[in-house]
Amino acid sequence: MFYIQPPKGLITLHVFEEIVFSRLEYLSVLNDNKNDAFKGKFEYLLQGSPYDYVGHFTLRLLALKSNELLSYWISKEKLLLKYRLSLIQPRQLYRLFKTIIKHINRRDNDIVNPVINTLMNVSSFYLQSEVFKHISSKNHPRHCNKYQQNIDFELIPDLVETKVVNLYRGIATVYCSEWREMLQSLFQTFILFEMKSQNILIKHFLTDPRLNILHQKLQYYIFNKGYHCETITASNIDNVSVHFPPCMMHLHLQLRHKHRLSHYARFYYTLFLKECGMSLEEAFIYWKYEYSKPHNCDSLCTHDWQTNNKKFIYSIRHMYGLEGGKKDYKCLDCNSMAEESLGSTYEGGCPFKNFDTDYLKSLLCKTITNDNFDKFIMNTSMQNPQTKCASFFKLRKATFVDNEITINKPVQYYMKMIC
Ligand code: SF4
Repeated sequence: MFYIQPPKGLITLHVFEEIVFSRLEYLSVLNDNKNDAFKGKFEYLLQGSPYDYVGHFTLRLLALKSNELLSYWISKEKLLLKYRLSLIQPRQLYRLFKTIIKHINRRDNDIVNPVINTLMNVSSFYLQSEVFKHISSKNHPRHCNKYQQNIDFELIPDLVETKVVNLYRGIATVYCSEWREMLQSLFQTFILFEMKSQNILIKHFLTDPRLNILHQKLQYYIFNKGYHCETITASNIDNVSVHFPPCMMHLHLQLRHKHRLSHYARFYYTLFLKECGMSLEEAFIYWKYEYSKPHNCDSLCTHDWQTNNKKFIYSIRHMYGLEGGKKDYKCLDCNSMAEESLGSTYEGGCPFKNFDTDYLKSLLCKTITNDNFDKFIMNTSMQNPQTKCASFFKLRKATFVDNEITINKPVQYYMKMIC
């Protein structure tokens, strides 16, 4: 309930998203006092479960990206704690204090958070047999001052502000009847300190394209704005593919033309789409649409969806980490794209390294003019493939491009192009 230790382990992307949006929906209905309207999966909200932790810590991470999201989210999380504390049974409360102490003892001491010592003291205090029986009793009076805690006023600013506590020389006196309010206030201060102190440490996670997409979806879901990264679907992919890096645009065009791709080309292209945010359901529609068509004479693959649908579905689910070893497969990086030799039928590779000039021209001129292509070839003749790709990116994007741009992965190109 206090979320001191982040969860460990692996999780598939679509479950990850489902957890986050279920939590958001729940926080929203709780805020509107319409709990019955919740349509998400309640199993993702089970208190203390790994899903509960994943939802909380992911939103905590994403809230670092904007103050607007942070203030929206933290107020709702505090509300969730308030709700849970209002229903808590003595056994659960006892376990809560015990868990707080256990998780604090397991913490990395490098992260300084002034709430930690107070939380430890408060939990130990309330775990004393007499005190615990007193505060968890059904007959605990609403304005009881039998026991009291002295807390640094800076750690419970909202209680000080609303004059719920008495203040003397910077120390606030909290009576036992206010234990719930005190925990909620400490919870908020604890999280804000955690986010502040870990901001630099975890900043690099926020450049992950999957988190970027998720953040944009959240912005749209909550504030109905900022989601200019269109989710890739089977019906919009022709329009969206003009923002793909040349290697992936080429695979898209090949698929549209031949209605088939060789094994590795299909594998890497599916992973690219997955990393760019195409949902599992849309992947089924997209691949089914093409593989249901007769293959043309350029294609060596004779499989079709009608007779091999189970195999295709399994294969796509596998790439999405839902079958077999449930691995989080990733699309190749640019170096591997350019260097991998995957047989004569392989349609993939890096166009800036593996295609001849005529073929490259026919591909790039889908999005730039012939004149621009000629200039581009002249200006980049001495560059390596990735630098050429970055130059092409600048040519396409035209404005607001940082001179230092580097392209290491196809998905990175796409994310920079659309965001
Ligand atoms: Fe694709 Fe990378 Fe080559 Fe660009 S440099 S075309 S992103 S493989």
